[in-house]
Amino acid sequence: MAFRQFTAHLWIAQSEVFATNSGVFLGAGQAGLIDPGLRPEELRRLQAFLSERGVRPRLILITHAHWDHILGPEVFPGVPVAAHARFEEVLRRHGADLQHQIAAWDAEEGRHRERPFALPRPDVLITPPWRCEIGGVSWQAIDAPGHAPDQCAFYQPDAGILWAADMLSDVEIPLVSHSLAAYEATLARIAALDIAALIPGHGTPTASRAEIARRLAADRAYLAALRECVSRVVRSSGDVDAAHRACAALSYAHPQRNRQAHRWNVETVFLELGGTAARPIGWELEWQ
Ligand SMILES: [Zn+2]
Repeated sequence: MAFRQFTAHLWIAQSEVFATNSGVFLGAGQAGLIDPGLRPEELRRLQAFLSERGVRPRLILITHAHWDHILGPEVFPGVPVAAHARFEEVLRRHGADLQHQIAAWDAEEGRHRERPFALPRPDVLITPPWRCEIGGVSWQAIDAPGHAPDQCAFYQPDAGILWAADMLSDVEIPLVSHSLAAYEATLARIAALDIAALIPGHGTPTASRAEIARRLAADRAYLAALRECVSRVVRSSGDVDAAHRACAALSYAHPQRNRQAHRWNVETVFLELGGTAARPIGWELEWQ
């Protein structure tokens, strides 16, 4: 895990797993965390980083209820957790699946947990627009569904810093694991913000406006092409295999890494646009 001071008040710790970013904002003797993770030893380093500075976090912000974003609160008992109001509904539907995914990851990494992972229960339910002020930094929650129904991005209006949750990555394509229409609307909302610095949930943070504009344009273009391609198949009553054939030539970043994600995007969007399938397809499979 590498720590990097990104602005006067914001440190970013990047996990070795999926280049997942954890945020630490510090100021005036206070600290707040965003999506702290990921491995137990990385979380210990995060705890040490805070105790070396003599601060205890006052709040943990969780961007969405996916397993790789919820691992931190367990090691900061007593620190209030803030998550989107829809977080609890996702937990109700998929709590057991999330625990199963974390157990599978532990097994894959040869780790034994003494107790089963305890899912975080939010103390503060966020309904955007929602603001908090910690360590001299003011964060505003941005409703950001599309990748997940409960996804929240966090924006610092005075500095133009956007913590983008699982969007605008330089390593991942948009993962449309909730809804294409919602994802498109979210990116349109984000495009209207003045963003000087961007931290994606996975990948490289950037303070280059050109790079931020490039990522936004690339992700919007990919989603538009996906919509166009899949709608054509649905309109002509094609099946999901026809959708795969139609979208095979669609270009996207890092095809080797993102091929499976692209396939699931095609399937989830196919269902969203009115296609039908006899078996579960798309991102639904990730929960199984
Ligand atoms: Zn996610």
